Amino acid sequence: QRKKLGKLKKTPAVTQDGVEITLLANIELPADTTQAMEAGASGVGLFRSEFLFMERSGQAHRLPSEEEQFLAYRAAVQGMKGRPVTIRTLDVGADKPLDTTEHNILNPALGLRAIRYCLSEPQLFLTQLRAMLRASAFGPVKILVPMMAHNFEIEQTLAMIAQAKQELSAEGKEFDPEVPVGAMIEVPAAALALPMFVKKLDFLSIGTNDLIQYTLAIDRTDHEVAHLYDDLHPAILQLLQMVISAAEKAEIPVSICGGMAGDLRLTRLLTGMGFRELSMPAALLPEVKQAILNTRIDALQPHIKKILRSYDPVVIRETLAAMESAGQ
Ligand code: PEP
Ligand code: MG
Repeated sequence: QRKKLGKLKKTPAVTQDGVEITLLANIELPADTTQAMEAGASGVGLFRSEFLFMERSGQAHRLPSEEEQFLAYRAAVQGMKGRPVTIRTLDVGADKPLDTTEHNILNPALGLRAIRYCLSEPQLFLTQLRAMLRASAFGPVKILVPMMAHNFEIEQTLAMIAQAKQELSAEGKEFDPEVPVGAMIEVPAAALALPMFVKKLDFLSIGTNDLIQYTLAIDRTDHEVAHLYDDLHPAILQLLQMVISAAEKAEIPVSICGGMAGDLRLTRLLTGMGFRELSMPAALLPEVKQAILNTRIDALQPHIKKILRSYDPVVIRETLAAMESAGQ
């Protein structure tokens, strides 16, 4: 039965066979937490911090200070009233150019973006990590690192976080010493070789927008190849499956925070595959919750198996359609 979406806010997202799915919000500014709370989000699964840096056109060469960042992160933490806030470290480059990045980038999507950029600008990275850690004194914060692909990127990031903690301790500033650190899985290499670094992390979050871009070799900003963007491509489904089984083996939680997580067409597929945390724009959350309330995960299993065994795009689509009527 279809409850009014407005009344759904306090209803937990539990399937008809009793499986709870955690629904989180993606935000871009601290003020977005108001909408996230109104939608009944259990937390913020992705705070795209780069918007603090990119809203600064006209203020070229002036990055937000540690204090400005701290105030923004703290505002988001306070806005969520004790629910966890996953703050992503700076993901600039490619489709998100920073005023101060002046190099002539040949192929931005494959260039110095996200964690690559941060590790090449250690002072900028350290400033951001310090601000995030300081915000963690005011409520649960998780640090999420975008575009991880190499083992040394994790090691260097963890070393930078350790350094930031040491500095803050020496200065007598408060932070949560246990703040969880996670990686975004959005480069196929990371999905394929997850055991390489999964033990060093506290959680994973799949960025399907970039995972699809890099797996299918289609620039997500290039309209001429937009028709090739296919979230049901068997390669994407196989990668998602690999990530969830590697995460289960390593016993660390994995969420999805890319566009697939908020796509009603895919709610049953993803929950049927075993995903238990989905992060999406707050506006999409009530309808995804409604779909979950109308789903029986056990009834989906034969269809899920068929989809994951198939390399035929037509069979995959037909099975997905059949699942829509079967899941209740
Ligand atoms: C993604 O790549 O799926 C993602 C969530 O990050 P962004 O869209 O900000 O690159
Ligand atoms: Mg991404």
